[in-house]
Amino acid sequence: MKRFLRITAISVAMLVALLAGTFWMLFGGLQAQSAGLALGAGAEPVYDGFSTVFMLDAGNGQVALIDAGNDTAGTAILDALGKRNASADNVAAIFITHAHPDHDAAIAVFPRATVYAMQAEVPVAEAKEPYGSVFSWVTGRFNPHPFQVTHPLEDGEKVTVGNLEVTAFALPGHTPGSGAYLAQGVLYLGDAAMINSGQQVIGPSKAFSNDTEQGLASLKRLAEELQPRAEEVKVLATAHTGGVAGLGPLAALGGPGPAPAAAAAPAPAAAPQPPATNTVAPDIPGVVAGGTTVEVIKEGFDGTEGPIGMPDGSLIFTETAANRITRIDRDGNTSTFLENTNGSNGLAFDSRGRLVSVQTVPGQMRVGVIYPQGSETVLAENYEGTAFARPNDLVVDKEGGVYFTDAGLNPNQNPPPPPMPLAVYYITPAGSTLRVAEGIERPNGVQLSPDERTLYVNNSDGEYLLAFDIQADGTLRNRRNFARYEGVIRAGERLTSGADGLAIDAQGRVYACTQVGIQVFNAQGQPLGIIPLSRGPQNLAFAGPDKKTLYIVGRGAAFKVQMLAQGYMGRAK
Ligand SMILES: [Zn+2]
Ligand SMILES: [Zn+2]
Repeated sequence: MKRFLRITAISVAMLVALLAGTFWMLFGGLQAQSAGLALGAGAEPVYDGFSTVFMLDAGNGQVALIDAGNDTAGTAILDALGKRNASADNVAAIFITHAHPDHDAAIAVFPRATVYAMQAEVPVAEAKEPYGSVFSWVTGRFNPHPFQVTHPLEDGEKVTVGNLEVTAFALPGHTPGSGAYLAQGVLYLGDAAMINSGQQVIGPSKAFSNDTEQGLASLKRLAEELQPRAEEVKVLATAHTGGVAGLGPLAALGGPGPAPAAAAAPAPAAAPQPPATNTVAPDIPGVVAGGTTVEVIKEGFDGTEGPIGMPDGSLIFTETAANRITRIDRDGNTSTFLENTNGSNGLAFDSRGRLVSVQTVPGQMRVGVIYPQGSETVLAENYEGTAFARPNDLVVDKEGGVYFTDAGLNPNQNPPPPPMPLAVYYITPAGSTLRVAEGIERPNGVQLSPDERTLYVNNSDGEYLLAFDIQADGTLRNRRNFARYEGVIRAGERLTSGADGLAIDAQGRVYACTQVGIQVFNAQGQPLGIIPLSRGPQNLAFAGPDKKTLYIVGRGAAFKVQMLAQGYMGRAK
C-alpha cells in the first residue's frame, strides 16, 4: 500500500510537471503582452512573472485590483503600490475574474479589501467545488488558495469603489463563474477570452477551460449586450494575451473572414513592454549548445521586423512604426541606417545588392527597392488592379524574382484594407506579379530552401508550417504540411500559432518565430528544439562575419544568440 502511494505520488508529480510545461508552452510566449497594455489614466497592468493584475485608481488613496495574480506573496503588486506611496491597506477592492490559482494567489495579502466575484464562482473560490478544468487534477481538484467572496455579484451589477464605477458581467465557460469587469472604458476579461497574433478576440483556451463552447457563447452574448454602449468600451484587456482596441473585435468573434475587425477603433498607443530579459538556449545538437545565453541587445524600438545580415557582419532591421531602418553593428551598437522607408516591414537583398522591402503605409501597400539611394523603384503595388491588403514578408531568389506574403492583418488599418484574399505572390524577374498560393489562413514569414526548389510559408493562424515545390516559372505546386508548430492555441474553429518570420541555415534547417519561441526543424520538417525568448519573437536572421549569430527581433526588442549552425551563405537571408 505504501509503495502504491509512492508510485501514485511520483505519477502525480510527473503529471504536474507535464501540465505546468504545457501551460508554459501555451501562455509563456504571450504573457508579456498583457503586462505592456496601455489602459488610459488611472489604470496600470502589474505583471508578477506569470499573470497580469490590473491596478485601478479609485481616488482618495484607494486602489482596486482586477485579480490578485499568481504569487502568494503579491510582491509585484506591493512594489507597484509602493511606487504610488501606498501599501496593502490601500487596496479597497479586488475583483476576481475567476478562481484559477494564477488569478487569486495574493488575496490574503490585502485583508482590508472587499473581494468581489460572480455568484457562480463562489463555491469554486471557497473550494467547495472543483474548477472543472484540467487544473482540478493538478491541484487535487480544488482551489489551492481558497478565499471568501465578501460580495458575490449578479450579472450586470454595478459597484462603486471610491470614485470608480465597475460593472460586472457573467461570462461562464472558462470557469462556471468567470466574469468580466468594465471600468473606465476598459473591459477586463480575465481568461474568458484570448487575443491572437492577428489582434482578433478568440474564445478561452481549450486546455484550461471548463466549457469552451459555453465560453464562446457567453462572449457573443456580452458583445450584443454591450453593443448599444460600444462607444464606452475603449480597450478589451485579457489577463495573459494582451489587449485590443474597441468593442469591435469582441463583436467580430467567430465572424467570417480573416479581418472582421477592420472597423475597429484606432489602436491604443504603442504599449510599453516589461523589461526584456536574457534566456538560455537548450541543447540542440548541431544548432546551438545547451546553456548558451540568448542575450538582449537593446529594447525600446518602435516596431521590430525585417532583420537581415549585411556584408560587413552587421544587421539591419525595420522599425516599422518609426518609418526607419536601424543597424546593429558587431559590438551591439545601434544607429539609423535609413529613414522614410514607407513603412518597410520585411527586408531582402536582391542579387544586385539592392535592398527590397515590403512597404505598409496605408494606401501605398507595395513591394519595392528602397536602397541604395537613387535606385528606389516600385516592383508591385497591386494584383490585377486591386491593391494589396497589407504585405508582410519577402524573399528574393537568385534570378531576382520576389516571393512575398500578403497577410492582411492590421485590424486598425485606416482606410480599411481592400477585400483581397490573403495570398502568396511572386514578382517574376521580368516584373509581372503572379498569385502563387491562396487559402492559407494567414501567410506570414516566407523563405526559400538553399537550393531554391522549396518555398516555406509560415501560417500565423494555422497548425503547420507549409512547404511548396517551386516550378521552373516560379509558380508553386504540391502544397504540404512541412512541420507542426508547438504551442498552437485552439479556440473553437480558430487556431493561432503566432508564426511570424522564418530563416534557414546552411544545412537547410528551418527556424520559425512563434509564440513559444524559435522553433527549429530539420530539412525534413522534424522538430529539433525550441529556443525560448522573453518576448514574442517576430522575425530573425543569421548575421555576423561567419553568419553564426542568430539575431531575433520582437515586441520592440532585439536579441542575439551564438549558434553552432551557420546561416545559408548563398543569400543575404
Ligand atoms: Zn490565467
Ligand atoms: Zn484561468
